[in-house]
Amino acid sequence: MFAVPYQPWRDEAACRSGVDPELFFPVFEAGLKLTVRRAKAICQACPVQSECLDEALAVDEKFGIFGGVHFGQGALRRKGVRDALRRERGVELRVDPEDDFEHGTEAGAKRHSRLGEKACPECSRAAYWARVRRDEIRAAGELG
Ligand code: SF4
Ligand SMILES: [Zn+2]
Repeated sequence: MFAVPYQPWRDEAACRSGVDPELFFPVFEAGLKLTVRRAKAICQACPVQSECLDEALAVDEKFGIFGGVHFGQGALRRKGVRDALRRERGVELRVDPEDDFEHGTEAGAKRHSRLGEKACPECSRAAYWARVRRDEIRAAGELG
């Protein structure tokens, strides 16, 4: 992991107080669209939206809503799209690509565990379904 330096713009963040942080890290459940819309609306009124988006691009966020953009959804999940947006905004990537991994994958869950962290919701879900799939394949093999 890398150390995140103190960034004074964070003090201005609209999502800092009085807002449910879960809004910004929606999981794929009923009400997802509404949750994402509510989070994005808060970002639209946030005085540091631009700084927040640049920071999320710099650390290559892959999950959650930052600066009015849902990094865990749609085109932003693709590396090429994130690279293009960084170029467009003149943002340098600040993480070591070697230290990088895809959230929402079983490998991601393993990586979290190597780093001594609890897996993020996307990674734990992916690991869970990978286990279920393996069990199903095994069961089918035993039956057939
Ligand atoms: S842009 Fe959105 S996520 Fe970023 S600090 Fe503001 S309210 Fe929070
Ligand atoms: Zn993860």
